[in-house]
Amino acid sequence: MQRPFKYLLTLVLLAFATGPMLLSASAASGGKNGTLRWRPGKIRIAVSSSLLKQTSNLKSDSDVLGALQRSLLTWERAANISFESASSETQNVSPSGNNGDGVSLITIAQTPENLLLFAKNPDETAATTRVFFDKMGFITEADIVLNPYQQFSTDGNFGSFDLESTLTHEIGHLLGLDHSAVLGSTMFENYGKNGVYGLQNFAPRTLSEIDISSVRARYGAPASNNKCCGAINGKLLANNGKAAANTAVWAENIKTGKVHAETFSNSDGKFEFSGLSSGVYKLFAQMPGTSTKAFSLNHVGDVAVSRGNTAALTKTLGGKPNDFELQYVGFNGQLSGLAVPVNTGKAYTIYLGGKNLDSKNISFRFGSSFLSITPNSIISHDFGADLSVVSFELRVDPKAPIGEYSIFADSAAGGIGAVVGAIAVRGFLNPLSTIDIGDN
Ligand SMILES: [Zn+2]
Repeated sequence: MQRPFKYLLTLVLLAFATGPMLLSASAASGGKNGTLRWRPGKIRIAVSSSLLKQTSNLKSDSDVLGALQRSLLTWERAANISFESASSETQNVSPSGNNGDGVSLITIAQTPENLLLFAKNPDETAATTRVFFDKMGFITEADIVLNPYQQFSTDGNFGSFDLESTLTHEIGHLLGLDHSAVLGSTMFENYGKNGVYGLQNFAPRTLSEIDISSVRARYGAPASNNKCCGAINGKLLANNGKAAANTAVWAENIKTGKVHAETFSNSDGKFEFSGLSSGVYKLFAQMPGTSTKAFSLNHVGDVAVSRGNTAALTKTLGGKPNDFELQYVGFNGQLSGLAVPVNTGKAYTIYLGGKNLDSKNISFRFGSSFLSITPNSIISHDFGADLSVVSFELRVDPKAPIGEYSIFADSAAGGIGAVVGAIAVRGFLNPLSTIDIGDN
């Protein structure tokens, strides 16, 4: 039955962004956080007593300590990092400045200093992390403040933030990581409450390959890992021979199609991926949009990465601007900027929103053999003049590995585009599937 999607689809884009990582005053001159990292050795975390006692912000019976320990362990498993945590009576974030108090605190206390961090966006921010570092770029302290205006839970309660997901994201900032542009990654800039797409937001609890390569680029892999790490250095040129700056470039594993890294080229057109495991990666580049400077998706090349080595490539990009634009991903009546979590062996109706998307002129595909589209399932939906929306039925192979996958789109006019990491295969349940494919 064709439902009146015009009334069912709601836009939840950007509704629940996490706060940016706040850098201390000495960072102001340094601009982006670049390669901030901790010195080797244990990273000591003080857990404020505000998290350990009954408070109105934490749903009662929440497994607070379990959520905290699991989120620390998630990063310890990914890279050569080790944490040591202890409880503390400290409640306040250190004031901004060159030096903090030397204690890396996780707090939810409703003190004036902590509340001040969220004064501008009390409803849209889950947490924020203030990072202090020395002139060498070594982090000396990082304080995580959970927004005391918000509700947190560990059982997926709709309308609240998932505590473990929030902590896992913020611990990424504590480790010096910036936001990622890959939709399904833990460090993606947008972050949903439980209830977006009618689902629990457990996805950020699991690190994506891009989170793992980002943290390994700074700290290396755990000692037991013998496949990491290698790197790719590249340069992108426009077809006039000049540097292709500010272009999104990403790497997908050739065997699985999973997204392992994404970055933007600098003003010289250069980019670097490091922290990659050995393997062959397909590199793509695109400059989204329909302006004359934008261009369709390019296949940059296939690059073999091996441990301890840096592969190099230069590519001249071709193509004209796309005749369409992919802006939103959608599921279950909502369009958003968040990846859709799906399960193996199931099919789901996925929406894409943007400009000039029309079922008659556009087709979709994946860079992974584990994902496919049910033939003849692409449908256009009337969503007014400013936004075009299409849907299709996605089929997820029973053997698809956990991870993030891109959706590629081709137009009849020859345009190519992609939404990087839009589909996230997850272990936790998304029960809103259309059919069960079953095991094969
Ligand atoms: Zn963040």
